[in-house]
Amino acid sequence: MNAKQTDTRHRVVILGSGYAGLAAAVQLAGRVKGRQDVQVTLVNAQERFTERLRLHMTATGQEVAALDIPELLTGTGVRFVRGWVTAIDAETKAVRIDDDRELPYDTLVYGLGGVADTTAVPGAEDHAYTLSGVQDAQLLAERLARLTTGTVVVAGSGLTGVESAAEIAERYPELRVVLLGRQEPGANMNPRARAYLRGALDRLGVRVRAGVEVVKVLPDAVELADGETLDADAVLWTSGTRVSPLPAAAGLEVDAHGRIVTDQALRSVSHPNVYAIGDAAAIRQGYGVMHGTCQGGMPTGVHAALSIDRTLRGKQPKPFRFGYYHTPVSLGRGDAVVQFTRPDDSPRRICLTGGLAVRYKETVTASPWPTYSRMKKMPASGAFWPHGGRFTRIRSAK
Ligand SMILES: Cc1cc2nc3c(=O)[nH]c(=O)nc-3n(C[C@H](O)[C@H](O)[C@H](O)COP(=O)(O)OP(=O)(O)OC[C@H]3O[C@@H](n4cnc5c(N)ncnc54)[C@H](O)[C@@H]3O)c2cc1C
Repeated sequence: MNAKQTDTRHRVVILGSGYAGLAAAVQLAGRVKGRQDVQVTLVNAQERFTERLRLHMTATGQEVAALDIPELLTGTGVRFVRGWVTAIDAETKAVRIDDDRELPYDTLVYGLGGVADTTAVPGAEDHAYTLSGVQDAQLLAERLARLTTGTVVVAGSGLTGVESAAEIAERYPELRVVLLGRQEPGANMNPRARAYLRGALDRLGVRVRAGVEVVKVLPDAVELADGETLDADAVLWTSGTRVSPLPAAAGLEVDAHGRIVTDQALRSVSHPNVYAIGDAAAIRQGYGVMHGTCQGGMPTGVHAALSIDRTLRGKQPKPFRFGYYHTPVSLGRGDAVVQFTRPDDSPRRICLTGGLAVRYKETVTASPWPTYSRMKKMPASGAFWPHGGRFTRIRSAK
């Protein structure tokens, strides 16, 4: 193919090879296979896939599988670019990589995810550990390995906080693990699942303090809203998620969390040639704006790919609909609880606990990679997820 022909190709650039971005790349590659007029490029900071769902394992020194993104993409025709995205120019339609390379696009898919919101209280950015990426998790692992005694404070009693506190307490029984948060752990679960979760944390020796608010992180302590100070040899910050300032700086419409506001086809409402997927997207459903999960993130990637394919074939994209179905929570390696949910994420009566829940959780956690491999051969296999019925219907939808 000569340079002139290359210039006429429709360039789709996908930013981020996490759960959502990789789903978008593999699905789109399958849909446009054989087309010479479309080029798909995937940009990511590392060649190794980050299993965010296992970062609390990495943070406690456990080995996780090395999953290679370029290897997975072999044979798909997707061009992989390793690099750090530093800017998006939505006017000239180009992405800047590592400050010195530029990638032009016709269609952009933004899937750079989010990080722990350490800007929420003073000191968290400087003194707290996070599970925002592998390197952050490894820093905590190094710290924990050096501690023979002392206190680890996990700030944030959401599910990442619960899974992390349980994992740390199980791996390091000599450490005192304190879980702090505004809400009871498992607050969104039914009473049975919540009680089971709380019992497991008690059994592992995690001290739970709900109804408290951390207002400051110090080098060796945290300060609570009532003035109390708790000594801490390590603080893990899990409360809240923050999205990179890149979309806002590019002039894209974002919500209060910095997420790109999308229409029903997952296009930016201000820049329709930009799709937003995964944790970085503010996607409205009948029940409200979706919150970041892998279970919802992968379908957003697949749907964006389907929308782009339809648009390239001169068709209208379809509205995206997604309903939640479960909340699987690990409680160390030997225990777990799975809360089944309605499409709006409210708890059903049914839940799994103990060994069955452990197997369920592991099956779910391990499933994305084989799903991508399957999608390579059979794109349609990745295009199924619960659409949520009346829970996700938006009245104004056409
Ligand atoms: C400990 C933990 C446990 C979790 N457990 C669950 C669970 O059980 N179930 C569930 O549904 N969800 C879970 N989640 C949430 C889930 O991990 C996220 O919702 C999911 O990862 C979002 O996918 P994503 O593709 O949007 O972003 P990510 O998976 O975060 O992928 C983003 C990618 O973009 C790359 N990137 C970011 N910025 C740049 C840049 N500037 N330049 C280049 N590359 C960049 C990152 O390196 C990464 O590869 C958990 C999260 C954590 C931290």
